[in-house]
Amino acid sequence: MDAEQFRRAGYQAIDRICDYHSTLRNRPVTSQVEPGYLRKALPPSAPTEGEDIQVIADDYQKYIMPGLTHWQHPSFYAYFPTSSTFEGILAELYASSTSNPGFNWSASPACTELEAVVMDWTAQLLGLDRSFYNISEVGGGIIQTSASDSALVATVAARSRYIREHPHVAIENLVLYISTQTHSLGMKAGLVLGLKVRTLQVTAQDDFALRGDTLKAALEEDLSAGLHPFILIGTVGTTSSGAVDRLDEIGEIAKNYPFLWLHVDAAWAGVAYACPEYREAYHLPAINNYVDSFCTNFHKWGLVHFDGSCLWVRHRRHLIDALDITPEFLRSKQGDAGTFLFLWSCCFNVDGVCIGTAIDYRNWHLGLGRRFRSLKFWFALRARGVNGFQKYITDCIKLNNRFAQRIYESDLFAVVTKPSLSMTVFRIAPKSLSNLETLELNALNRAFYARLAARNDIAFTQTDLNGVFCVRMVVGAEKTVESDIDYALALIKEEAMILVGNWARMRG
Ligand SMILES: *Cc1c(COP(=O)(O)O)cnc(C)c1O
Repeated sequence: MDAEQFRRAGYQAIDRICDYHSTLRNRPVTSQVEPGYLRKALPPSAPTEGEDIQVIADDYQKYIMPGLTHWQHPSFYAYFPTSSTFEGILAELYASSTSNPGFNWSASPACTELEAVVMDWTAQLLGLDRSFYNISEVGGGIIQTSASDSALVATVAARSRYIREHPHVAIENLVLYISTQTHSLGMKAGLVLGLKVRTLQVTAQDDFALRGDTLKAALEEDLSAGLHPFILIGTVGTTSSGAVDRLDEIGEIAKNYPFLWLHVDAAWAGVAYACPEYREAYHLPAINNYVDSFCTNFHKWGLVHFDGSCLWVRHRRHLIDALDITPEFLRSKQGDAGTFLFLWSCCFNVDGVCIGTAIDYRNWHLGLGRRFRSLKFWFALRARGVNGFQKYITDCIKLNNRFAQRIYESDLFAVVTKPSLSMTVFRIAPKSLSNLETLELNALNRAFYARLAARNDIAFTQTDLNGVFCVRMVVGAEKTVESDIDYALALIKEEAMILVGNWARMRG
């Protein structure tokens, strides 16, 4: 292909991407294909000879597009959103165009330096304490692939710190603490690292938040049994219901157990700290005072398309102590000069003068090579600015409040837990059928959810809160507006009326 053909294919791709975004509203939200549809449609082997880009690009529209769920669709309320900006998507093209595994400073100085800068921008945007900034040269921030990777890395660092400080402890006596509402990333970290996991209980009365006393009782019990709890994964905004652990209480307890690493997983909700009015109620002061590491995914509710999970640590040396294995060929005068020399060395200008320290991000995550993800953060944050970012967050919360308010007022539905930011967990609970047993009501709600899931013009997800089956609604697509919320309300009402009518007839 010559340069002109490349250019034409490139223009066409951009055109089609723009068309996709401007016609999103007219598409079905969820894909309706059958499992295995693609295997049937595609040849069993790669072509022997190269094919024309036009044919490949057309096949993308023909075969791949029908199998996609449109997460940016204004009626997508399932899981958590994965928002994006067009500017960030363009940044991704630029980043891909240099195909660059920037694992250390000299592999591509801009990759390391931009990441260090945007992680300080985002730390500042969220109101994190300065000790988490890269510029502090003590703590720092890194972009990981997912919150699961962030939690795994934090657990590796915590384990390494604990073993260093307690060299005679057997690994099988270490315990990782989570709550019943912690995302499966807690169990997975335990599984991958071969750790005992203790699941702490939470209650509906506490809105599914982990309390300080529960932690204290577990610590006392385990310590007297000769076990070694070494990390707690707390959550701000649980996946099921948006619950917020009582980090204020947890921090006060943990102060007396300084060997316990506190990691906070705020994968979805953490970006709301960009709006100062949410900082106090969602325990940012406790994060700033007590925690060792904090994670939020900008690729959920932070206008940066997948992937971009931000992890900040109070002491970067714990990451490096745990993860630095520097063979000779990766040593450079700008990076971690091997553990036996000095963990942090200077970047030198052409005259050999130190002009600041370089981070070796390869020692802050599990792999070696890393994607150039900071570029899309840089584009997205600049395109929206702090004001635009805050407005997006508050707009989502307002839209969810509109939804929650109607649910509160309704005779058909009930809110199951207090709405959290842009999330409402609700269920059918018809006043006309108020004598239904829990099990019957769960069955009714399963049937309700099945009706919703069979539609392709809207997407929700289900959850179970201590035996109560319910439906989650999370606002986050940038294109969602009030009329979309009203459409969702009308639609769930219509489905619920049909079901409640049938139910009453069946029993009557
Ligand atoms: C979505 C979510 C996760 C998982 O995020 P990944 O980045 O996909 O690993 C973890 N914790 C919470 C609270 C979440 O909402």
